[in-house]
Amino acid sequence: LAKGNGKNNFQFYNSGWNEIILRKMKIENEIRKAIDQNQFTLVYQPKVELKSGKIVGMEALIRWEHPELGFISPVEFIPIAEEIGLIVPLGEWVLKTACKQNKAWQEVGLPLLCVAVNVSVRQLQHSDFVKTVSKVLRETGLSAKYLELEITESVMQNIEESTVVLNELRSIGIWTALDDFGKGYSSLHILKELPIDTIKIDKSFVDDVANPKSESMIKSIIDIALNFNLNVIAEGIEHEYQSKVLMENKCSFGQGYHYSKPLNAVEFEMLLRKQSDIVAI
Ligand code: C2E
Ligand code: MG
Ligand code: MG
Ligand code: MG
Repeated sequence: LAKGNGKNNFQFYNSGWNEIILRKMKIENEIRKAIDQNQFTLVYQPKVELKSGKIVGMEALIRWEHPELGFISPVEFIPIAEEIGLIVPLGEWVLKTACKQNKAWQEVGLPLLCVAVNVSVRQLQHSDFVKTVSKVLRETGLSAKYLELEITESVMQNIEESTVVLNELRSIGIWTALDDFGKGYSSLHILKELPIDTIKIDKSFVDDVANPKSESMIKSIIDIALNFNLNVIAEGIEHEYQSKVLMENKCSFGQGYHYSKPLNAVEFEMLLRKQSDIVAI
């Protein structure tokens, strides 16, 4: 940067930070209103069997279209909702909406699929979490075996407590998956300690699968997971060759733009009907 411009640069960075802080404060305030004003929606990304491309489940992902600010990514607002504690009511809304939608699809005769919902560590550690999940299942009429909860390795911050909660969820019949596995500092220890059913191989590995080192890491992760009797699914598959390498290494399931982007409920239902040869009513 140009010499002698120190003061201006300082002002520039200073106002940059102001903007960031103002936007964050705005988002904090707006999340509160957005739940009541129905600004959130869910989209559903198919989980597929790699060899056939057949839909075997779906992941619900939250979307926020703010009337003024436009589309705001969950990558931006979920951490803010976590920070201010609003992730608890927001997460309950996600859970309820996803279960209700899945039940509605089941009732019109679409294939019985499991819906996956992302759960923040802050929700999992909330004392009422298991009660809330049970209540949502009861109220929506969805059977527990059609619900999967995706958690991340951040639950390791409090492994004893998380293990208790995950065991309670398991006893109800809910499936659990460890999301983003391999990203950050996941250790193999987590697989040994946590009662989970599935690991989701992080997109960063899938991106890099053409690299022989990455491929052997993926292969090792899959081998260990399968030895532990865990299911394995890969995230972020964008290209055919990635899917091929994954299958060669015994990963049978995946998600990603190569198969389908996350779809709104109407689009997802159309895709499901097309695949299952069910005529629209
Ligand atoms: P995630 O749970 O790991 O979800 C996968 C993300 O990757 C999603 O982004 C999805 O749209 C995107 N994705 C899927 N396939 C591909 C692909 O082939 N290429 C690329 N580039 N991206 C792909 P999204 O929807 O923006 O969500 C980001 C993260 O926000 C999620 O990561 C999850 O951690 C969090 N999130 C989303 N919805 C919720 C929610 O309802 N509750 C909570 N607690 N977190 C959520
Ligand atoms: Mg997820
Ligand atoms: Mg993930
Ligand atoms: Mg992720």
